[in-house]
Amino acid sequence: MDTRLEAIREQVLARNPGEKEFHQAVVEVFESLGPVLDKHPEFVDAAVLQRLCEPERQIIFRVPWVDDAGRVQINRGFRVEFNSALGPYKGGLRFHPSVYLGIVKFLGFEQIFKNALTGMPIGGGKGGSDFDPRGKSDGEVMRFCQSFMTELYRHIGEYTDVPAGDIGVGGREIGYLFGQYKRITNRYESGVLTGKGIGWGGSLVRPEATGFGTVLFAQEMLKTRGTSFDGQRVVVSGSGNVATFAIAKAQQFGAKVVACSDSSGYVVDENGIDVPLLRQIKEKERGRLKEYAVRRGASVSYIEGGSVWDVDTAVALPCATQNELNTEAATRLVKNGLVAVAEGANMPSTSGAVAVFQEAGILFGPGKAANAGGVATSALEMQQNASRDAWSFEHTEQRLTQIMVGIHDRCAETAETYGSPGNYVVGANIAGFVKVADAMLAQGLI
Ligand code: GLU
Repeated sequence: MDTRLEAIREQVLARNPGEKEFHQAVVEVFESLGPVLDKHPEFVDAAVLQRLCEPERQIIFRVPWVDDAGRVQINRGFRVEFNSALGPYKGGLRFHPSVYLGIVKFLGFEQIFKNALTGMPIGGGKGGSDFDPRGKSDGEVMRFCQSFMTELYRHIGEYTDVPAGDIGVGGREIGYLFGQYKRITNRYESGVLTGKGIGWGGSLVRPEATGFGTVLFAQEMLKTRGTSFDGQRVVVSGSGNVATFAIAKAQQFGAKVVACSDSSGYVVDENGIDVPLLRQIKEKERGRLKEYAVRRGASVSYIEGGSVWDVDTAVALPCATQNELNTEAATRLVKNGLVAVAEGANMPSTSGAVAVFQEAGILFGPGKAANAGGVATSALEMQQNASRDAWSFEHTEQRLTQIMVGIHDRCAETAETYGSPGNYVVGANIAGFVKVADAMLAQGLI
């Protein structure tokens, strides 16, 4: 690595001790940036990288709430407002017991580049809590969301910071959060949150957007090798929102999706995953994937524990969580016919796994490019809210498709320009970085 970059990287890592996911995200971006600094010495002079790695604002707060037994519970809330060079901070809220500052910062950092790649006017941010919605009643989730928003409301706004969902935060949580924001502020400020219900300011295609976008991005990558999803074997990890709609879109493109997972295990369904049944169990009943195998019958196997990446596939779509696909799994998949990987989750492949894919010449779409369809459609939701309009499914999906093709092409062209043809990691990191860095320079020392 370039010695200038190495020195800055070491400063950043030392300044943020113990935040291993944030370190991983920073190191990954820095590895791509050598050729940019050669071409743009002004970025070095203005310390753009040092500034970019320091969030503009970090908010950590107490979230007290009362459970169904009447006991007081305490969680920790976070919002990291990372970079507003391109627009209001934009990024989801994650409710999961693993959430701590290092995870929120990694996600917020990724979000800066991802949002820049969409071409939409949105900055980068992320938030969440170590609250675990699993096993909680509706009433408990509502009281938690209300308490969370009772602090968060003072930091957000349609021109300031626009949260949305992520792991553990879906339509139900966004509803409770929006209700509390409205109650405290006495404003029906639709554009303050995205992922809202369709009947009250949400956008069609937003629930589908991340999964659809990932498959659209993968389809563009496959085209560069003269192939497509048609007839391909596909494995998807996860069974939440992103995974479900990635499966649906891949099937629409003619693929056979044979496996998906949850945090307890995975199912193999050689007849192709039944999406309506999966949605019924995971979304409506908030049940476990094990139930899918029970209802589908003998042709489906459920493997408790273990990794879905033990299943051979041509196209892998990791849509669960960070660092779920490691070097060992990557090596095995490559040996057994892997053609392409597109990340529906944020940083689901470890750095070792990415290296294995790249050395083997596998098409690899990093999350910040391949899963940008979700946040891009959030920006479309903001656009509809600002103009008090509601677009049709067809129109919105067409916009999403244009955006994903645009991201693919921008990454491919940038990789080519900077001497790494076919390397979408380099393309995404450089294209995202240059856009943000130019805006930061133009806006002076901020
Ligand atoms: N959480 C999603 C992501 O990782 C979506 C964020 C948004 O819509 O603001 O990009």
